[in-house]
Amino acid sequence: MIADMPVHDAALLLLGHGSTLNADSSAPTYQHAEEIRRRGIFAEVHVAFWKEEPNFRQALRQAEQREVYVVPNFISSGYFTEQIIPRELGLTGAVTHRDGRDIYYCEPVGLHPSMTEALLHRASQVVAASRETIPQPSKTACLFICGHGTSLNDNSTKIIHEQAEAVRASGLYADCQAVLMEQSPFVKDWRTLTNCADVIVVPFFISDGLHSFENIPVLLGLPNSVKEQQLANPHHEKERRLWYATAIGTEAFIADVIIAQVKQFQAKHLKSAREKNSSRQVSAIRENLAQFFRETSPPWKIGEIIIRPGFELLHRDDLGNDPASLRRIRSLEDLRELIRLDQKGNFRPLRAAPNLRRGWIYHAPDLSSLQLALDYLYPAELANWSLSRRQQLPITPWNETAERQTGRFGIVREIDEAAIRELVTHHCQPGCLKQRLWHPAIQPFQTVSNKIPLLCPEACNFLVSKAREKLKGSDREE
Ligand code: SF4
Repeated sequence: MIADMPVHDAALLLLGHGSTLNADSSAPTYQHAEEIRRRGIFAEVHVAFWKEEPNFRQALRQAEQREVYVVPNFISSGYFTEQIIPRELGLTGAVTHRDGRDIYYCEPVGLHPSMTEALLHRASQVVAASRETIPQPSKTACLFICGHGTSLNDNSTKIIHEQAEAVRASGLYADCQAVLMEQSPFVKDWRTLTNCADVIVVPFFISDGLHSFENIPVLLGLPNSVKEQQLANPHHEKERRLWYATAIGTEAFIADVIIAQVKQFQAKHLKSAREKNSSRQVSAIRENLAQFFRETSPPWKIGEIIIRPGFELLHRDDLGNDPASLRRIRSLEDLRELIRLDQKGNFRPLRAAPNLRRGWIYHAPDLSSLQLALDYLYPAELANWSLSRRQQLPITPWNETAERQTGRFGIVREIDEAAIRELVTHHCQPGCLKQRLWHPAIQPFQTVSNKIPLLCPEACNFLVSKAREKLKGSDREE
């Protein structure tokens, strides 16, 4: 276990990929953030995603400390960590001084040496949780670390090979090898790659999804969907036994790896700087919220939510219902689980969509818990509202948003204003409660005294995806 160190005067910002299709993609990033928040190491802990809300562009707005540690919850360095994140957050290097704050850009989670410990932990846990044991893994078991493998970026492949080498050096397993889905050594060849009687496979991915739940199991010869069929370990094949774990990024130990990345950053870059940086900020967002409650009359409103005195949150359509008939949500984690799916069980990538589930009530014990709950319900909206009250909310017109897009999304620069308005009519107007502030889809700003407005200062990634889809058709995988 890596020891926690106090960074009480700083914020942690954990960045994940997220998905507009798969509800499991962002879950580990939220879970690790919640675990680190529980430990009280940082003054604030926030998350942001490339494909979900809050997005990278809004990420820093949420953090109010003068020092912010940014940790990419990515498996390796590459396009996202070297280009997208620095560009979207306006970072200039490992340390960025901007707008009176210091932003510390740490290495991606997957690069930290303690990932080896996480892998060993995951491998031993998957066996411990099964019906059978491996009495002497150092004599009979092979651990396969499985990655994607691609000719475009071999960084993640390189890391997997390095991890395999580190596990081999530990001597805890008779063998350990890197295997890949799309290039040699292929995971589908596991039967011939090792002679060990016991085989453990750990997918080296940051979250579970199509690859870990479906593709790798099929390549291994396991049932089609591990998620739906709840694979019972071990799987028997002739004289051999195969244990299959879920993605390494879902391992609880990753919270320690994230903290270790911050610690490593401090050791490398901040030996003297931290001594002079120790002033804790007062939260302007929380101050705004407190002032709003003092100066306006309840019940207060935000999106589909009603806030009653005592910080009780419920769906506006449940206001007339007997509170005893509503399911009481006990924790922020339960609230996060509840809001990720709509009434029919479909994923809600767009949190401001008017499809929040009904039938529940959540009592926030204090103002800071209320702030966290509202951040879950409507990511970064309190920060946007707070900046807008001070006339400091940056607004980005569509052409700037389009110009910023690279790779597969660069094509959206070709879309014209008429097509943007059409997209807005189809996706924003019926599907999102936010008020658009960006050209050419600007809406008149309406202020209601006891309502916190949901503001859209720039086209979100969901709309950018829809713009791409309009030109290229839809993708199954992101
Ligand atoms: S661009 Fe449209 S869908 Fe996206 S957040 Fe803004 S209003 Fe909502």
